[in-house]
Amino acid sequence: KVNKPKLREQLKKRSTNLGKALSLSYINPIQMQRSAFQYMYDGQGNTILDAYNNIMLAGHCHPKVVRAGRKVMTRLNTNTRYVYPEILAYSETLLSKFPQSLDKVFFVNSGSAATDLAIRMALAYSKKKKIMVLEHGYHGNTRIGIDISHYKYSQGNNLGKQDYIVEAPMPKVFGSGLKDDGSAGKHFAQETMARIDGAKGKIAAFIAEPIMGCGGQVPLAKGYLKEVYPKIHEQGGICISDEVQVGFGRLGDFFWGYEMHEVVPDMVILGKPMGNGHPIGAVVTTSEISESFAQGPEFFSSFGGNPVSCAIGHAVLEVIEEEKLQEHAKKVGDYLQSLLVELQQEFLEIANIRGIGLFIGVELLDKKGNPNTMLAHRVKNELRENCILIGTDGPYDNVLKIKPPLSFSEKDADRLVHQLHKICNDLLN
Ligand code: PMP
Repeated sequence: KVNKPKLREQLKKRSTNLGKALSLSYINPIQMQRSAFQYMYDGQGNTILDAYNNIMLAGHCHPKVVRAGRKVMTRLNTNTRYVYPEILAYSETLLSKFPQSLDKVFFVNSGSAATDLAIRMALAYSKKKKIMVLEHGYHGNTRIGIDISHYKYSQGNNLGKQDYIVEAPMPKVFGSGLKDDGSAGKHFAQETMARIDGAKGKIAAFIAEPIMGCGGQVPLAKGYLKEVYPKIHEQGGICISDEVQVGFGRLGDFFWGYEMHEVVPDMVILGKPMGNGHPIGAVVTTSEISESFAQGPEFFSSFGGNPVSCAIGHAVLEVIEEEKLQEHAKKVGDYLQSLLVELQQEFLEIANIRGIGLFIGVELLDKKGNPNTMLAHRVKNELRENCILIGTDGPYDNVLKIKPPLSFSEKDADRLVHQLHKICNDLLN
């Protein structure tokens, strides 16, 4: 309460100085002061449970990660035109997480920069012009990023679908009337194959997230990528897996999202959790694709792969290993899903719970089976009033997104679902 006028002042300053296209989370915006692991602390003295930020994989301000960055920052920061040990050690550890075919890495500063570079490389390698994307996919904020992100180009004053884009339907099992036993995957793959055929051998790349984040936490139907990847290869294109949201062990059973679909991509895009909040992104690809890109011109990123970023990225990988965060994500994720499934028995509006590990979506419908955007917003904002952060997304913004820092515990899961239960009781009974 003490800080209320100050918040008003800060909001005014924000609207004076920052572009209107930036948004604020929650009806009641939060002044963030500090954070540690899965907790954040606001200007009013509240401790807030973060069940939303998948970037802080190791936990907010993880001491090992902070120390690693600070240590190198006081000694040296430079770029990839010089030789220094941090980039060599980090690239070796990072590449050890991939199958042998994916043996080259390019470092950049964001998921968007990685996407942009991946598409440039795909065009250069394949000598083709078209890019195949999934409906409701999101891959980045650059011009190319928007071009290949149906989630954005279909909205507002963006340019709409460009001529070089080939859309494929979102292979979403829930609501399709099909089962996730491979039959849904086959069904969606058939439609996608027809569109590949329609593009007459001109597809340079097919890009997809293994579980679509902005699309509403939608795992691609089982078997879908297994059918589509070979078809893209057959006509001379490459397959890109966007692991920006789901990568680095969050899924519990899998370190990378493509593993759950039993495919190996030709290129992987990394970002968000890679630096635990420090801006790092990367493209990991094959020697062959990397070689074709070496024909020039030089690729240079002022900050991509600098020693400080590499030390931070390396520390994140070490923390994942040392604290067994992948196993932890499985254990807590399974537990959280079981609590949500119990909650679902009580409320018809909780129509679908999906995802894996600590990457979970809860789709809300009304009693007639229509997207319940209003309920999703009320739940999100009520949780915020009770000091718990989650998000909403999907084409109708009716999917609750739960993707916390991996330090999130079973006790935190109890607290989240207990509060959800109370809110649903208040709003629905
Ligand atoms: N790919 C996916 C799947 C994403 O969710 C995002 C960011 N939301 C990006 C790429 C772009 O990453 P960045 O915001 O770091 O540029």
